[in-house]
Amino acid sequence: MREQLALLIELQKMESKAGSIAARKKDLPVQLADLEAKFKEHHAGVETVREHLEELRKRRRDKDNQLRTGQETLKRTRDRLLDVKTNKEYQSVLKEIETFESKNSHMEDEIISLLDELDLLEKAVKTREEELEAQSRRYEEEKTKMTDELSSLVGELDVCTRKSGELKKNISADILRKYEQIKNAKRGVAVVSCWKEVCNGCHMSIPPQLYNELQKSMALVICPNCSRIIYWENKKN
Ligand SMILES: [Zn+2]
Repeated sequence: MREQLALLIELQKMESKAGSIAARKKDLPVQLADLEAKFKEHHAGVETVREHLEELRKRRRDKDNQLRTGQETLKRTRDRLLDVKTNKEYQSVLKEIETFESKNSHMEDEIISLLDELDLLEKAVKTREEELEAQSRRYEEEKTKMTDELSSLVGELDVCTRKSGELKKNISADILRKYEQIKNAKRGVAVVSCWKEVCNGCHMSIPPQLYNELQKSMALVICPNCSRIIYWENKKN
């Protein structure tokens, strides 16, 4: 029985290890997807700022063109002064010139403030792009690490399954059936140690006679309280 118990303990260890590996294996892709979503979000954020910058640049080109047109119109209007015949006409052209000058000057002011805005935005885009690049590197590193871990987990899980299978071959069918039954009922922990008449599964005392039997290790002993398989563990050693 001692040997069978040792095999059961080993089997439980192996199955518990397989359980942790399986949980991690399930969790990793979730973490990876989360990481990817965050990276994409950051990327989209940078893209939005870049688009804004493009818009501003286009607005600047438009305003430059408008100013050029305004300056040409102003020049043409000034040229017209040479051809005017009457004072009234002269005054009217002067008025027009004044209006165009004011419009052009307003346009120049707009361009200057646009240039300031562009300057700030260009710096912001540069910073965001640098951040994105660093984040991209981190993301790729993490991704590689996680992918590597995932594939090594597959291997580890295989080893656990194989070892569990080998252990099961050496455990008697009755005991194995009992173990599986308790394991399913107790969420994985079917075999627990017992020391000084206390079951390590439920922390309750077991009857002295049963404890004596347990120490002899002649039969499979079940804790009368939590119904787990118990084994005597000499903690003095
Ligand atoms: Zn117990």
